[in-house]
Amino acid sequence: MTDALWTPLADVPPFPAAGFAPLADALARVLRTKNDLLLVQAEAAVALEAVAQSLGRPGLRALVLVSSLYGRWFAGWLRRAGAHVRELAAPPGQPMAAPEVAKALASERFDLVFVVHAENAYGILNPLEDIAALVKAQGALLVVDAVASVGGHALDVDALGADLVVIGPQKALGGQAGVSAVAVSAAAWERVAPPGEAPSVLSLADLRAGWLETGRKALPGTPSALEFHALAQTLAQVEREGLSALQERHASAARAARAGALVLTGQAWVAPEQASNLVTAVALPEGISAAQVLDVAGPGMRFRPGSDRGASG
Ligand SMILES: *Cc1c(COP(=O)(O)O)cnc(C)c1O
Repeated sequence: MTDALWTPLADVPPFPAAGFAPLADALARVLRTKNDLLLVQAEAAVALEAVAQSLGRPGLRALVLVSSLYGRWFAGWLRRAGAHVRELAAPPGQPMAAPEVAKALASERFDLVFVVHAENAYGILNPLEDIAALVKAQGALLVVDAVASVGGHALDVDALGADLVVIGPQKALGGQAGVSAVAVSAAAWERVAPPGEAPSVLSLADLRAGWLETGRKALPGTPSALEFHALAQTLAQVEREGLSALQERHASAARAARAGALVLTGQAWVAPEQASNLVTAVALPEGISAAQVLDVAGPGMRFRPGSDRGASG
């Protein structure tokens, strides 16, 4: 009886303070970046909000590329902070077209551009390299939501010149959602709001003061040992498999899913190079509705009303 009730979760060994910096370094290797790597003790949506909260201010001009609700959220957080925000929406369920981005950038000066790399919710991959080149040519900061793509698609942060990149372990890396990370470039630091009167979980400057500037010895607050043990296991597993092998595993599963969908429906949702390796979107043939497919698939497949956040991984 007592055996059945025993749980190791109640007595988790502490996570050593010296262990945080190696985790940050491993995440930086995954992102191929020499930029500062901040650990955020919350799910990735919080890290995204922290980026918006730390950069948004009156006078900031932002172009937010919207290919799912994450862009809409980022735009909302920036507006709440007083920024001027222009939203550029991709056609529903489709990737952002680089020429549309070029047009927007030519029509107005922006300090910052936000884009999601790959979409978990809609099964598409945005043309990040093309968009990054356009944004860099303008001298604007590039913010990339790579939460769904990291581990599932090639991502070279320094080659892209991406200034703020948000990731989480819980999608293609196969980890838990309790810790996320932000890579911050030197140019981005120049635009980050200074620490406020009281510490804030949404302040990148507080993370810099409490973590980078104290020699990365201990994280501020009381880190959850369980989450950091899980992150360490996830990153060890990624290093054992190898990042390119992991990416190829997701890519080959996606190729197989697309090939199967093509046989069933006779048409592809998007071209293969526009498809996410995380989720495969399927174009339904004439006469079959999404509701009918969901009825056959069973109740567990239905999204909750009002939510298009999708299932993880
Ligand atoms: C999942 C996801 C997030 C946020 O992750 P949470 O687990 O909800 O914090 C952000 N952006 C994209 C593109 C995602 O797929």
